[in-house]
Amino acid sequence: MNKPKEVFCYLNNEHIAGNSASSFSVFYPGTGEKLCETTEASIAQVDEAVDIARQSQVTWAKYSSQQRSRILRKAANLIRQYTQKIAQLEVWDTGKPIREALEVDVVTAADTVEYYANLAVTLHGDFYSTNDADIYTKVEPIGVCAGIGAWNYPFQIAAWKSAPALACGNSFIFKPSELTPFSAVLLAEIYKEAGLPSGVFQVVQGGADIGRALTTHTGIQKISFTGEVQTGKKIMADSSVNLKTLTMELGGKSPLIIFEDTDPDVAARAALAANFYTQGEVCTNGTRVFVPEKYLAAFQNAIEKRTQNVVLGDPFDENVNVGALISAAHKKVVDNFIESGKAEGAKAFTLGELPSGAFAHGFFTQPVIFYNCNDHMQIVKEEIFGPVMSVLTFKDESEVIERANQTDFGLAAAVFTHDITRMQRMIDQLHAGMVWINNYNITPVEMPFGGTKQSGFGKENGMDTLTHYTKRKSVYISKADVFSPF
Ligand code: NAD
Repeated sequence: MNKPKEVFCYLNNEHIAGNSASSFSVFYPGTGEKLCETTEASIAQVDEAVDIARQSQVTWAKYSSQQRSRILRKAANLIRQYTQKIAQLEVWDTGKPIREALEVDVVTAADTVEYYANLAVTLHGDFYSTNDADIYTKVEPIGVCAGIGAWNYPFQIAAWKSAPALACGNSFIFKPSELTPFSAVLLAEIYKEAGLPSGVFQVVQGGADIGRALTTHTGIQKISFTGEVQTGKKIMADSSVNLKTLTMELGGKSPLIIFEDTDPDVAARAALAANFYTQGEVCTNGTRVFVPEKYLAAFQNAIEKRTQNVVLGDPFDENVNVGALISAAHKKVVDNFIESGKAEGAKAFTLGELPSGAFAHGFFTQPVIFYNCNDHMQIVKEEIFGPVMSVLTFKDESEVIERANQTDFGLAAAVFTHDITRMQRMIDQLHAGMVWINNYNITPVEMPFGGTKQSGFGKENGMDTLTHYTKRKSVYISKADVFSPF
């Protein structure tokens, strides 16, 4: 695929250039080269998108659930048909390895669109009958919904947010991260080709200001946000202008807890994947790896045997499994964390080789495993969102549970053990929105995805998400005389 060179908004089924006074640059993380300069959408264009979305939502909600389902199923098939094109665009956008974009990003996007296509026909309310009345709930779309995305899984995030919204009869406006503006427009083109009516899915381009134009807009009834905790707090405050409903998919510092009955090679594979997939830019990553004191040496040996498998380089090369970080600025943040870990006395074990040639100017950072960590180090407490693993040791189960929970985040957790009662105790006591047992970062579409505590609220995927894109009207049909003290 040729390098993408232009970024458009997508309004009313047309590619439209942003027309504000400000612009942003888009870079290819793999080489650091600038791909284009993009003019942001203006506030007037956001207003226009909301007006279009309001009108098109009325039309879309009148489609039968079978019609909505058929269009979304076609979109899912088209996503699968265009796998190569989407994956390549995702690599230009993010600098992640193409094999991941092919195996995960496109697959999980198609699965989600297909899943909600199938669920569109199942939406229903409840019925209750008393002596005095028949009572039922009517499930209705919310109206105009908007999504604001992060840069790590741009196509997947756009699909995960829009598919349930559209299945429920809402219209949707999506703002991708300004660092990864390309692939959301490709999703819009796919929805159009699948038969989605004009204006039901639109894309506006820009940074925080355009995000704020959505969150403060009184014509929008719901925001689904993926990004940092601090941004999430601002969005909650801004969204209060008309009491929007919210889904918040925020950051994490998740524990990966390994007990000594785990094969050390299994533990090593899990810990490496849980930290270095998408070069560590995964919100659910298990960045605090807890191993029993007695087990540390076996774990270290198993890790060392696998580290020759780490290959940094051309993200389009299918042998590469660690790509480039998203930007020069983010690379600096990650590198500073690595320096802080060394300065605080953790022992760094660095993996792979930095790439050379054209890729020497890409935003690559070698993955680092830190041993000799303690709970008070900056690298152990804060979300890094880069390829940095902290290994911590523990003595017993109650200690590790307490330490794993000592964080404001609560996105995910994992436990490796074959002791079933221990598993159950851990599941009950870990403060996390998702717990994996004997695996990591697996997100089948049936599994509701989302955090607790400051990692956010609301879910993506799974049947729960239908409740986040619908409202319920309670209807009371009286069988009795009017009650009145007058
Ligand atoms: P970010 O918060 O900087 O930006 C996210 C989006 O918000 C971008 O589109 C940005 O333009 C927009 N934005 C920024 N300020 C805004 C404002 N005041 N009002 C409205 N919109 C605004 O996050 P990021 O750096 O893009 O992404 C990394 C973060 O995302 C990490 O913390 C990561 O853990 C989190 N994340 C969470 C999940 C999840 O599902 N829980 C998934 C992926 C990433």
